[in-house]
Amino acid sequence: MKVLVINCGSSSLKYQLIDSDTEAVLAKGLCERIGIEGSCITHNKAGADKQTWTSPMPDHTEAVRLVVEKLTDPEVGAVKSLSEIDAIGHRIVHGGEKFASSVVINDEVIKAIEECNDLAPLHNPANLIGIRACQKIMPNVPMVAVFDTAFHQTMPEKAYLYGLPLKYYKEYKIRRYGFHGTSHDFVSKRAAEILGKKREDLRIIVCHLGNGASVSAVKYGKSVDTSMGMTPLEGLIMGTRSGDIDPAIVDYIAQKENLTFKEVNNILNKKSGVLGLSDGVSSDFRDLAKAAEEVNKAAKTALETYTYHVGKYIGAYTAAMGGVDAVVFTAGVGENDADTRAAIGEYMSFLDTKIDPVKNKVRGEERIISTDDSKVKVLCIPTNEELAIARETVRLV
Ligand code: ADP
Repeated sequence: MKVLVINCGSSSLKYQLIDSDTEAVLAKGLCERIGIEGSCITHNKAGADKQTWTSPMPDHTEAVRLVVEKLTDPEVGAVKSLSEIDAIGHRIVHGGEKFASSVVINDEVIKAIEECNDLAPLHNPANLIGIRACQKIMPNVPMVAVFDTAFHQTMPEKAYLYGLPLKYYKEYKIRRYGFHGTSHDFVSKRAAEILGKKREDLRIIVCHLGNGASVSAVKYGKSVDTSMGMTPLEGLIMGTRSGDIDPAIVDYIAQKENLTFKEVNNILNKKSGVLGLSDGVSSDFRDLAKAAEEVNKAAKTALETYTYHVGKYIGAYTAAMGGVDAVVFTAGVGENDADTRAAIGEYMSFLDTKIDPVKNKVRGEERIISTDDSKVKVLCIPTNEELAIARETVRLV
């Protein structure tokens, strides 16, 4: 089967065409600046060079039309005609409590996703626009929704409830949902395969460390806790997001700086994290490492604070699961940044576990990186959310 995977943002649309039999990516690309001046599409057919075209995209329907045009183009395309695309898988950020697994999209599902809009006002409406645009251009192709939150729906009440008046949960569904679920699921499954064990027999901590970052506790195949909360702002210190802070700080900053809550929220999302901590050096770990080497004190502190927090979560989730068998690093930083992995590894000594400096010299490939005598296996596993979405789509259609 050929599956088109769509990840739709408010002004962008990422796509991959995957052959589900071979799991090869036939083509992939990105539409940018949808609805604003200077829209362009970058398309990459497997084995060919990447190409970019500027083309007006007043809305997402036009973006999807262009994607189809490129995918079926005699030169840069990957299929002869639209009829070769068997199914479409959509990444949906928030499924609330309604979706504990992926679903085939129909009118009822669209309505239910719409009802989750309040919980992810920046993401879900954009995801829905993507669904509707595909419905217009490819009305007969079956579509599947794969939710970032679904994998974490197995968390017990004690992990997802906040210490707030219960009525807020009952009336507004304020609770921990967690995100990056597709990645936590994919990577923990793969870890079990690499270790030659069943996931149902393992307690795994997954550190998804990208621009956005989250840790999860996957106990015997199920997510039992995760660091992101009702929104993707909670938990680890991230590229530009603060992660956990004392909630009273919001009001305090608002008063001191004469800002609205919305403005403070914007600072917590876009100007905090390692970018804020490094005093504006960068949200990118490559820049931070370089600056720290050049003795930039704030960059060094940002990296130390970041790794300390990841280490603390590993300790917490070990306690939550009554032990741990494997710790996995994934996503941009987790897959590529050996120094950050090594620094986090220092916090695993209480587990009689060490990262092997030679095995740790790895970038973007699967490998066990702990020393042979370590009690807990530490692994580096590249995530592949698009492939996970394609697999889910095939499973359901
Ligand atoms: P997201 O999907 O959340 O946007 P990614 O998982 O792609 O993010 O991660 C992007 C981040 O990965 C970059 O901001 C950068 O900090 C980090 N990164 C990528 N490559 C490297 C590398 N070689 N060394 C260190 N960090 C890297």
